[in-house]
Amino acid sequence: MYGMTSQDVSGFLKDFLLFCRTLYRIAVTPNPCQDENICKLFSIMPSGKNYFLLPPGTFLYNELAGTLALLVPNEHGAVISEWDLSQGFKRSLLNRLKARITGENDACKQARAFNPCLPFIINNGHCNRKSCPNEHLGTASLGQNWFQLRIRIHLQQILVIQGLRMVPINPNERVKQYRYASYCYFFLLLLITYRHWISSLFDSLFPPLLRLGHFANLDITTIPEAPKALPILESYCKEILFWRQHITRDPKLLTTAYQVVRIVFYFNRLQALPSIIRSPLSDLLRTVPEYSRKEGSNFNFILPRLVYALAGNQIQGIDCGILSLKCV
Ligand SMILES: [Zn+2]
Repeated sequence: MYGMTSQDVSGFLKDFLLFCRTLYRIAVTPNPCQDENICKLFSIMPSGKNYFLLPPGTFLYNELAGTLALLVPNEHGAVISEWDLSQGFKRSLLNRLKARITGENDACKQARAFNPCLPFIINNGHCNRKSCPNEHLGTASLGQNWFQLRIRIHLQQILVIQGLRMVPINPNERVKQYRYASYCYFFLLLLITYRHWISSLFDSLFPPLLRLGHFANLDITTIPEAPKALPILESYCKEILFWRQHITRDPKLLTTAYQVVRIVFYFNRLQALPSIIRSPLSDLLRTVPEYSRKEGSNFNFILPRLVYALAGNQIQGIDCGILSLKCV
């Protein structure tokens, strides 16, 4: 994927999304042992009432071999109860789905199609970075089609990482006192992924150079994935705004807040304003001394001022913009 063009990445993500949906649909089949096609596909054979045989070397045999207590070996393979097989089937397939999405996500982060080289574009085809990992694009490649495609692959990736939520949190975790920590850790990893792709989408929607496109020219109706991806993107933004476990000293937290607010406003301007102002992230940033400034007897907090300035729907927005800049 590293050297693929945006067009190739888009085609790959389309197929990968279909693979993820199909795998998930099979994984959550209510009673896989009673499904003829699933039994044929995974070599599940009946072995007495409510028991099934898994031949050695098959996917399920290998996956469930670690849970030896559940398997009774004989000369043809291992016998497992219907209940244990159903649970193991779902767990094995969802773990496989998670591993595939995690691998794909790591590959996409490195893919050149998501990371155009700015010095190469600014310097008219020259980049002094040795073994530059970013994509070198000629001016002729940077058209409206490329810009649309760049937004599209981001929205496709937003849909792909949604699959990470479908996988249960450590299904083998039985210790109750660790369960809350597991949930926090699980959502922390998700938020790191969300923040990465929101930042990347932000750079694509609001690039530093006009040659890289402009959000005003985006025709979202031509992106087939947009109707599904935009509500999910909005939910990621809300989760960042309403997550209560952000690290106060995270140096990129204000940048993330700014990117989230601009993206939310771009797709859903006025409705989001009150909830952003009252969000836990906004409250949290009020507690950071670097993000506030004393004006007489009052405190001027940077994020609320910034939000009103970006909303641009009130006359006070200009004052708010100036006050937020004074905090910097
Ligand atoms: Zn470069």
